[in-house]
Amino acid sequence: MPQPKIIYFDNAATTPVNNEVLDTYIKVKTSYFANPSSIHSLGQQANRLLDKARLQILDLLKTNDHEVIFTSGATEANNLAIKGYAIKYQNRGKHIISTNVEHPAVKECLKQLEEQFGFQITYLPVDEKGQIDLNQLENAMQKDTILVSIMAVNNETGIIFPIKEIAQIVHKHPLAVFHSDVTQAIGKISLPYEDIDMFSFSGHKIHGLNGTGALIKRKKIELLPLLSGGGQENGFRSGTDDVAGDVALAKALRLSLDTMENNYKHVSLLKEKLEKYLLDNPSEYHLNSSHNPYIINFSTLKKKASVVVEALSNAGIMVSSTSACHAHKEPLSEPVLMMSNDMHLAKNTIRISFDASNTLEEVDIFINKLSSIIGEIK
Ligand code: PMP
Repeated sequence: MPQPKIIYFDNAATTPVNNEVLDTYIKVKTSYFANPSSIHSLGQQANRLLDKARLQILDLLKTNDHEVIFTSGATEANNLAIKGYAIKYQNRGKHIISTNVEHPAVKECLKQLEEQFGFQITYLPVDEKGQIDLNQLENAMQKDTILVSIMAVNNETGIIFPIKEIAQIVHKHPLAVFHSDVTQAIGKISLPYEDIDMFSFSGHKIHGLNGTGALIKRKKIELLPLLSGGGQENGFRSGTDDVAGDVALAKALRLSLDTMENNYKHVSLLKEKLEKYLLDNPSEYHLNSSHNPYIINFSTLKKKASVVVEALSNAGIMVSSTSACHAHKEPLSEPVLMMSNDMHLAKNTIRISFDASNTLEEVDIFINKLSSIIGEIK
């Protein structure tokens, strides 16, 4: 039986690797396989490639004061930034500000700092649009606030946070630094990277490889390393570098930034089509958010979202019910709960996350399939 063509609308969970990026990975992995810490010529060649990748990333993001710490992804980068910074500078103060809609890779770090290390955390709430109030941030800043960690784009709702304004508020306080998890923003929307003291991202969300990522931080910022050992990555992250993965990360970033504007326009067309269908059918769907064209979040009003997602999957259409990281826990979207205060909406969310390779025709197929599934499910 011929298999239906897969339609992949789960790009916020991960993206397929770009062939050019994979070619780069294979080329470096086969020709420059030596350990970049080795002093022989092959090791030094690998080390030069690694340094070139670092400089390329800093150049692409126009971050002059910063340095790159390659990690295994955003989870590790967030852990290093938040725990590494808080523990290093705890003598300056033990207050941290964040939001109540961060990814678990941030939220769980904060919880650990609170429960195990006696930090005080202020979680800024989001309003019905999923947005934070900058006045609340300003009022929450204390003399002992050492860190503010606020994501650039929420992974479930796609809400874009005002990074420039947040940085300005944080920087009025000389002891505080601003960290942002930019995993869902980088290569998709433009960000003032120079204004952010530390930011984290993963390669596999921008068509790079799983297991690659980075923390970019201002050079003057010190961190307590989480991984001790041979002192790689300037002592901040020990362990033999994945030269091929890191060079591939720089390439994936370059390609995503090169095509960012055109991709945004294309994805906006996909979003408009889907948004219109959802808004035209208010008895079946509630649109939770669509102000970022890459992530559209809606809830099913009469049918169970998890059943709809499964039926879509059986028809070859891949979407998420909440974020992939929550998929095996209770299916509930915390960001949607925080913005709506509505348990039904939070338990029945569907997240569509687009990529520039998706087409209007795919959106049409999706809409037709979704509406027939909604009609068929009892
Ligand atoms: N932060 C955000 C906003 C994310 O979307 C993700 C991936 N779901 C992560 C952090 C964690 O990324 P990784 O699993 O690649 O470490």
